[in-house]
Amino acid sequence: MIGIGLERLLYLVAAVLFITGLKQLQSPETARKGNQISALGMLLAIVITLLSAKTMTYGTIMAGLLVGGGIGLYLARSVAMTSMPQMVALLNGVGGGSSLLVATAEFLHMYEKGEAATVDVALSTHLGVLIGAVTLTGSAIAWAKLQEVMTGKAITFGGQMTVNGLLFAVIAGLAAWLIMVPTAPLWAFYALIGLSLLLGVLLVIPIGGADMPVVISLLNSYSGIAAAMTGFVIKSEVLVISGALVGSSGIILSQIMCKAMNRSLGNVLFGASGATAGKSTKSSEGLTVASTNVEEAALQLAYAQQVIIVPGYGLAVAQAQHQVRELMDLIEKRGGTVKFAIHPVAGRMPGHMNVLLAEANIPYDKLIDMDDINPEFERTDVCLVIGANDVVNPAARTDASSPIFGMPILNADQAKRCIVMKRGMSAGFAGIENELFYNPKTQMLFGDAKGTLSKLVAEVKQV
Ligand code: NDP
Repeated sequence: MIGIGLERLLYLVAAVLFITGLKQLQSPETARKGNQISALGMLLAIVITLLSAKTMTYGTIMAGLLVGGGIGLYLARSVAMTSMPQMVALLNGVGGGSSLLVATAEFLHMYEKGEAATVDVALSTHLGVLIGAVTLTGSAIAWAKLQEVMTGKAITFGGQMTVNGLLFAVIAGLAAWLIMVPTAPLWAFYALIGLSLLLGVLLVIPIGGADMPVVISLLNSYSGIAAAMTGFVIKSEVLVISGALVGSSGIILSQIMCKAMNRSLGNVLFGASGATAGKSTKSSEGLTVASTNVEEAALQLAYAQQVIIVPGYGLAVAQAQHQVRELMDLIEKRGGTVKFAIHPVAGRMPGHMNVLLAEANIPYDKLIDMDDINPEFERTDVCLVIGANDVVNPAARTDASSPIFGMPILNADQAKRCIVMKRGMSAGFAGIENELFYNPKTQMLFGDAKGTLSKLVAEVKQV
């Protein structure tokens, strides 16, 4: 047991560690250390909580720790890199769900005792319930969409916005009733939970296609806000601070992702972009595709002065990051320059390509952001697109009927030559045709990225 003064001081230290850790996540060079510092802060917060006078039932806590920790360990070890977005969606949902449970338990506790909470605590409780519930079911829908358990496209129906607005008004009304009349019947509280769970489903189903990255970071933000609200309810400063950090960084990330897709947050949330996925009026009928082979591609790469590699989701599926590194080393040994063009929504989670390429120890200064690399394509001899599709689709510039119209893309089509590596002619996440594949400057190199890259490496060595 520790005194209340020391307890608060140590919680403050934990909060400082969270903030320092977050600051270090700003750059790939310091990100690992930042993660460790934040983890240390979390360990400290857990230890203080366990030692604090409020903690009575160690048996229950240990049981929760073992079950939750066991499931977490299993998931973290077994999840494929390509399934990380689903995992993040689930974790957001679990975070929201726990805030919902804590706020519910606190409410019921006070209700049973017949105590009236002060307005600020009561408001925080109902906000914790609302946001926690929306995060829980919203994340479950996001998980189901990404896992392809349900359609990834937007699900819309007439009057959807009105229904959501009415639902929100009823929830707000119930919360106001419960705050102003502490003796209001308990069903009102359960109705508030049920309607909030429903609102989570209704808010996420109309979002689909290429907008999913924004939803994930937004739900991440919601889970933080729900935790902060719960922090007010149980009077835990460290929970308020850590929740606010998650909430605000999630919002910032959502804004960055929106900017990357040239959309506004309101447009993503209420624009139902995925609804039109696959309905672009452009078709590839009558167009021809030129394919190449490993030998020809190896020659082009070996003699190129500048090569830009565009990695995409397919590179992550193939787990070919080490083969890419080998190819880069070989080209550079022959005097060529190799750069990686990183699109903010390439892959299936924010920073997916950075993490993937860092695994193969590709230097960070080789990874160039979209805005900085785009002017370089014109003077690039070969652009090698590996498992990327939507992020190099010129329809975003030229086809107003395309669901990705307006999204900034990597200018792969402006390179002197473009080699696209993928297994076949399948569409990417947005489910649409890509006219880059039919461009006369483009050659398709079909096959699994890992196998083809291994062969390319062997061939470049022979040149
Ligand atoms: P895409 O999903 O557009 O395309 C990936 C391509 O990889 C497919 O066309 C596929 O073609 C190919 N591929 C798959 N497996 C392999 C393999 N083993 N070897 C070679 N190629 C393979 O990927 P992008 O990275 O270009 O775009 C990301 C998309 O995902 C965007 O629409 C984005 O909005 C969305 N998204 C992004 C998230 C994020 O946070 N980054 C989160 C959720 C969605 P084929 O089958 O023919 O091989």
